[in-house]
Amino acid sequence: MVRLLRSPCFSSASGFIRLWRRLRERRLDARHLQHFNDLAQAALRNAEVDRLKSGTTWAGKRKFRIVEKRVENKCGDICSFYLQPHDGGELPPFLPGQFLTFELPISDQPAPVIRCYSLSDSPSRLDRYRVTIKRLSPPPDAGETVPGGLSSTYFHANLKEGDVVDVQAPKGGFVLDLQSERPVVLIGGGVGLTPVLSMLKALDDAGSHREVHFFHAARSGDDIVLCDEFGRLPSGGTTSITACSTAHRLMLALRDGITIARAS
Ligand SMILES: Cc1cc2nc3c(=O)[nH]c(=O)nc-3n(C[C@H](O)[C@H](O)[C@H](O)COP(=O)(O)OP(=O)(O)OC[C@H]3O[C@@H](n4cnc5c(N)ncnc54)[C@H](O)[C@@H]3O)c2cc1C
Repeated sequence: MVRLLRSPCFSSASGFIRLWRRLRERRLDARHLQHFNDLAQAALRNAEVDRLKSGTTWAGKRKFRIVEKRVENKCGDICSFYLQPHDGGELPPFLPGQFLTFELPISDQPAPVIRCYSLSDSPSRLDRYRVTIKRLSPPPDAGETVPGGLSSTYFHANLKEGDVVDVQAPKGGFVLDLQSERPVVLIGGGVGLTPVLSMLKALDDAGSHREVHFFHAARSGDDIVLCDEFGRLPSGGTTSITACSTAHRLMLALRDGITIARAS
């Protein structure tokens, strides 16, 4: 038996088998590597979603400081507000599409005014939250006694950098499923673009390969905000985005990596 194992015939046969195995392994390697990459990407996305879901949150309201207030359009009726926890504690993560609920002590109101605003930045942005708010005027035919929007006017006219507001934790079930591989259709109108931007940025940050179709309508160029941020997508070039907007300015801002579909 030992003699047989040492015979040149056997050793060359086993050498051949080893060689054949290696060749087969190399052929498989490329496919395995691709498969491994896909699995790794999916695992990373799942881990990110788990992290977002399990993140520390808070019950009831918590105080946040407005660390930046930025006017977003020429006529000044849309502003972004950047918020950080007043207690210096952690900023819990959120899912793209979720919103913050504010409790505002507006004078002449019998109770705090409660309003929701979508988180407009990427969930990967862990140092501050951002909401982008349009100041609502009274309807055009409404007569002089009708007031403008309570909360949006308060944000624009009363709140400034350094002020502190009461905020409930991010919530909302209208979120983008980051674990799915299916194509995404995003539809937004006017300032309703805010959750859409958060979703697009989340896909971009995750290096997603999903196909995205983005539709947008705006009454006027003034309703278009955060154009520069849309213009930086997709930063890694992985997400395939087809965009269609009635807003010329937004379409001009979009970069080459995006397929433009004309709105009729
Ligand atoms: C999940 C969610 C996310 C949202 N995200 C955003 C966002 O990202 N950005 C954003 O800007 N908004 C967002 N909104 C809308 C926001 O919550 C508010 O509804 C919006 O800001 C208007 O609130 P307000 O208090 O300013 O206006 P309100 O006081 O509620 O008034 C609404 C309108 O009614 C008019 N009005 C008041 N009284 C009368 C009257 N007697 N007769 C006729 N008209 C009258 C006002 O002039 C105003 O135009 C979101 C809403 C939800 C539910």
